[in-house]
Amino acid sequence: MKAVDSRLEMEWADATWDPLAGCTRKSAACRHCYAEALTAASSQSGLWGHGFAEIGPKGPAWTGQIALLEDRLALPLGWENPRRIFVNALSDLFHESLPVETIDRIFAVMALAPRHTFLVLTKRPKTMQPYLADPAAPGRIAGAMEAIAAKDGTPHKIDAWPLPNVWLGVTAENQKEADRRIPLLLETPAAVRWIAAEPLLESLDLKIGTWLRDAPDGSAGAKLDWIVAGGETGPEAQPCHPDWARSLRDQCAKSGAAFFWRQWGEHIPAAGVEADSAQATDKMSWERIGARPASRFLDGLLHEAFPAPRL
Ligand code: SF4
Repeated sequence: MKAVDSRLEMEWADATWDPLAGCTRKSAACRHCYAEALTAASSQSGLWGHGFAEIGPKGPAWTGQIALLEDRLALPLGWENPRRIFVNALSDLFHESLPVETIDRIFAVMALAPRHTFLVLTKRPKTMQPYLADPAAPGRIAGAMEAIAAKDGTPHKIDAWPLPNVWLGVTAENQKEADRRIPLLLETPAAVRWIAAEPLLESLDLKIGTWLRDAPDGSAGAKLDWIVAGGETGPEAQPCHPDWARSLRDQCAKSGAAFFWRQWGEHIPAAGVEADSAQATDKMSWERIGARPASRFLDGLLHEAFPAPRL
């Protein structure tokens, strides 16, 4: 699959759409933020990243400014064929400093393009949950839809809320962030709820029966539908123990959640991914592999499952 409108490729998306520029670091998953580096690399005067990040004495650094790039806002409306679109690969839609009107306008574009599936990922579910739970949100978004698309005066309204074509996810790189973010995600109205356990920095318990269904045909109600996971990348990336990935795969199999293993990051065990190792990551020998295609297999298999919306 080929990503467009961005410098990034995600195996689980056909395209990325970056209507926002700028961000600030939030947690351990931001340690090697590719968005900060890419934005700083385009920060010369006249380029899109100018003012949002810069190359400082310690390397790329956000400036703290975050804003909507007007020329990118309506891009998905021009994409005719249905796409699975990663929203804001280079920022965070629910950043605390964004005005609610900006979030409304981005949701308005998603509502105007029901042929696409939009994948939203945040590290800020404390902002996302009240936004989605606000009964006034659909009305405000309908108003934004008119401003974006209804030059002919046709009224726009939201037929279903939450939007069926918007999948909402949080990053859960370690148990602390999973414990903090997943309960808020489960309180958020959404057609599909997912997590990105990437970079996977330790083993995660996704609490079968509480966060995950207790069986594939198990309990109704808000549960996680999709787990995307992968190792850490970047020059100082830490290795990902194969047992951490196996555990997520097995928890998904028990619960019926879809599992997508994206990549191993920079390292694989010197003895091979499939070799059993009861040793801790710091006691194992590792081979640096970068982004080799073979690094996407887990015990000899590709895991590339997608969920079905349960609205
Ligand atoms: S939230 Fe995302 S874009 Fe923002 S600093 Fe963290 S990793 Fe980078």
